Amino acid sequence: MSKHVTHWINGQEWSGTAARHGDIYNPATGQVTGTVDFATSAVMDQAVASSKAAFAEWRQASLARRSQVLFAFRELLNAKKEELAAIITAEHGKVLSDALGEVTRGLEVVEFACGIPHLLKGGYSESVSTGVDVYSIRQPLGVVGIISPFNFPAMVPMWFFPLAIASGNVVIVKPSEKDPSATDFVAKLWKEAGLPDGVFNVVHGDKEAVDALLTHPDVKSISFVGSTPIAKYVYETGTAHGKRVQALGGAKNHMVVLPDADLDLAADAAINAGFGSAGERCMAISALVAVEPVADVLIAKIKERMAKLTTGDGTKGADMGPLVSSIHRDKVASYVAAGEKEGATLVVDGRTTKFEGDAAGFWLGPTLFDNVTPKMSIYIDEIFGPVLSVIRVKTYAEALKLVNDHLYGNGTAIFTNDGGAARRYQNEVEVGMVGINVPIPVPMAYYSFGGWKASLFGDTHAHGIEGVHFFTRGKVVTSRWLDPSHGGINLGFPQNV
Ligand code: NAD
Repeated sequence: MSKHVTHWINGQEWSGTAARHGDIYNPATGQVTGTVDFATSAVMDQAVASSKAAFAEWRQASLARRSQVLFAFRELLNAKKEELAAIITAEHGKVLSDALGEVTRGLEVVEFACGIPHLLKGGYSESVSTGVDVYSIRQPLGVVGIISPFNFPAMVPMWFFPLAIASGNVVIVKPSEKDPSATDFVAKLWKEAGLPDGVFNVVHGDKEAVDALLTHPDVKSISFVGSTPIAKYVYETGTAHGKRVQALGGAKNHMVVLPDADLDLAADAAINAGFGSAGERCMAISALVAVEPVADVLIAKIKERMAKLTTGDGTKGADMGPLVSSIHRDKVASYVAAGEKEGATLVVDGRTTKFEGDAAGFWLGPTLFDNVTPKMSIYIDEIFGPVLSVIRVKTYAEALKLVNDHLYGNGTAIFTNDGGAARRYQNEVEVGMVGINVPIPVPMAYYSFGGWKASLFGDTHAHGIEGVHFFTRGKVVTSRWLDPSHGGINLGFPQNV
């Protein structure tokens, strides 16, 4: 039976009829499994009005009440994580264990947000002047918008909304139209957890819905995650409309392998980080920088491991699932063709991989290139698929220059047994998240996630204390209570005595 996904506004499914909608696919079968409604700006207006009305009550909810709702939501999400993972696999294609992993990483942010009473504590200074005290508080912004990508339909929105809601804001999520069901599932859990109607609204759609959110005068902030051109557009449009914006963009993550590294560990890591989730992760490793003389041995070890990987339906135990759409699969395949044409050595060709699944699925197997150079499109562009490129360099300095010269600066990893070299890399590399013998260094919820350069527009990263700051405004209060000694006229600028 074909499903119909619609907006979730004010604690219920939207009852209108959409003029436009998108198809939802199961990437493992290539079949359309349902449709999702696309919002007009009038629907967005409806959602914002509902959010605004809910803000009046929610911003006044005590910290005790907010954290009780968050704890209840955490329990429900934990109890239903398998159900949510199955929804993700059915629309995204990633294998079930990976989908469960993304829900778990999202849960960690919810758990962090459960500590909101502590996170929102301000400072207090007694007697800054005679009889005068000063204290700081942080208050919610109001209606906040979240626009998310297809590749983490549960985790990425959860980088933002637990802290936004815990801080007293009201949220509108615009999920990716490719896998929209996960957010509606989450909306129902919030309702069950006791969150008042209107605090968590979901509006589906494409550019029209995004533009309506970016330009709405009552929307105070935008948290965006997606490709770099759209992140830049969202940042520029949102800030031009007076909003606070954090826009996380694309990536090209380098893994540097030094000559003293454990090459078995490095080969395992390259496989996991290169081909997990079919390379559709913003923290996937796509450029493997081999500092000679390691390349030949490392490539042999990676090739040996690739031969054992299975590509197939994510519900049936394969290592790697399909790509999200036929268009995206064809785009990734076109990069494989371009790499060959540009003179890279195609070591393993994923276009010929045998897959276990429906012939109509969006398949492309793990692909490995050697002798890739910085001028090739497979090195310059974010491919966002299971394509790993090996770049051979002679020295650490050459490796570092390569990484620092790249447009993107999301994540990177170095593999070495030399603590001094690793420490130097962490200091010198111009990238936001660094792994030392850890290929996908996604920070824990109590640190903040974000890249540098074209991987992030704005200055605030996601979750951790930066997340709390993003979703709140600071206020400083200077107070004096009546005391007979405080009288008298003085037109001079206040000085502390
Ligand atoms: P995308 O940029 O195509 O879409 C992201 C969101 O923007 C979606 O909600 C989409 O509906 C909307 N959108 C698409 N086109 C638009 C337009 N013209 N105007 C306004 N809105 C538009 O990204 P995607 O393909 O869904 O996701 C993959 C991308 O996201 C990759 O580039 C990946 O690196 C990036 N990503 C980055 C991070 C990070 O933390 N930096 C995390 C996850 C994904």
